[in-house]
Amino acid sequence: MKKGFQGSPSSGPSARIAFDYKPQQRTRPNHARWFVSGLVLPLIGGIVAYTIATREDSFVEPRPPALSVANLPPIEIEKVTIPAAMPPSVLGDTVEFVVRRNDTMDRIFRQLKLNLTDLANLRNLPDVRASIDQLRVGDTITLVHDEGLLQSLTRRISETEILSVTRVNEGFRSEVIETPLDIQEVQAEGTIESSLFVAARAAGVSPELILQLANDIFGWEIDFALDIRPGDKFHLVYEQKYRDGKFIGNGRILAADFLNDGNLHRAVYFESADGKMADYFAPDGRSMRRQFLRAPLEFTRISSNFNPKRRHPILNTIRAHKGVDYAAPTGTVIKAAGDGKVKFVGTKGGYGRVVVLEHGAGISTLYGHMSRFAGVRNGQRVRQGTTIGYVGSSGAATGPHLHYEYLVNGVHKNPRTVRLPDAAPISDEYRAEFLTKAGQLFAKLDRAGAAQVASTLPQ
Ligand SMILES: [Zn+2]
Repeated sequence: MKKGFQGSPSSGPSARIAFDYKPQQRTRPNHARWFVSGLVLPLIGGIVAYTIATREDSFVEPRPPALSVANLPPIEIEKVTIPAAMPPSVLGDTVEFVVRRNDTMDRIFRQLKLNLTDLANLRNLPDVRASIDQLRVGDTITLVHDEGLLQSLTRRISETEILSVTRVNEGFRSEVIETPLDIQEVQAEGTIESSLFVAARAAGVSPELILQLANDIFGWEIDFALDIRPGDKFHLVYEQKYRDGKFIGNGRILAADFLNDGNLHRAVYFESADGKMADYFAPDGRSMRRQFLRAPLEFTRISSNFNPKRRHPILNTIRAHKGVDYAAPTGTVIKAAGDGKVKFVGTKGGYGRVVVLEHGAGISTLYGHMSRFAGVRNGQRVRQGTTIGYVGSSGAATGPHLHYEYLVNGVHKNPRTVRLPDAAPISDEYRAEFLTKAGQLFAKLDRAGAAQVASTLPQ
């Protein structure tokens, strides 16, 4: 995430589009349960890597008594890639360890029967401690050891950096090797027939990218749960990341058109040269954001709308429903709809566990029926998107949902239709830079559109 940019899905307008998407399996899914491996590989420098496969719950000594194909357990043969960054002079046995749940460096060293003093020495290197101790499931750590004495440790610590630690006479030496990404700009477009996600898939656009579009860019202008029509079109210019010619993942959307019910919505990503300003804007410099999220959670459905004349389901009396009920599983994160200050946190009659926020300009928001609070205190300042509590059914609730109210000068407004105040537009300081950069991106959208029109004309 670049400096100054707050546009993660968690800070989107509402994250109204949510679905059960599982990230792509890693290319070597077995590594999640089977720790490596190696195989007899003729390598320069005489490194012999061998393969032991073992279940994570029954660790087997990684070193067979003698290296012979006959006494290796049946395993799947797979290629071990020694990272290019590995110092070629290191001799020893190479283990590629794929981090599993609950793994720690201590546990890995113990399992591999590596010298624990080496680990302690590694941790004493400046800046290395955090880099080796922050493990994520699926990370690969390449360790070279000689009879348990660590010779080198290599792991990727970011998309563009590899940490490499090598034994030297006095101990260990660490360096961070830059592996820059090659960012390419690509375009995609699609027409919606049944759903946005189906259209995205047909256009080769990943679900994460289409969530960026729906949540971070157009989520304030278009209600993707209700307003999408067959015939709606999208057109994106976005980044793809490559390393050594290999596709690593998608980057951000740089410019987007969304034609909704005949209305063209258009946005561009702008990052100022000084790095202080980075966000999505309309062509005229208006922010794509609003000061409030339309809905402060990812909900399953709206279980009750704002309705001044509703019969209350429990009290069975005509009582105005002064908010919107968003059904969601117990424990679903509830976010502050806008920047503000906690005015009340506690239990209050039918609301159950409730938080009230004050946002200035006479606007306040209320969040009821929480199962628990997220450590918020009276008077505390919160930012838009801050987790303030979790969905529950405390108070007078028939099932888990968030009861959400939006008030202006004490008067209840319909949170789904109220005009939300705009976020700040592009400032004068950046206006010229914005117009230049945005103009270039919009030209790309226009050129592609023109090319498409031309290609459909009879020759
Ligand atoms: Zn309600």
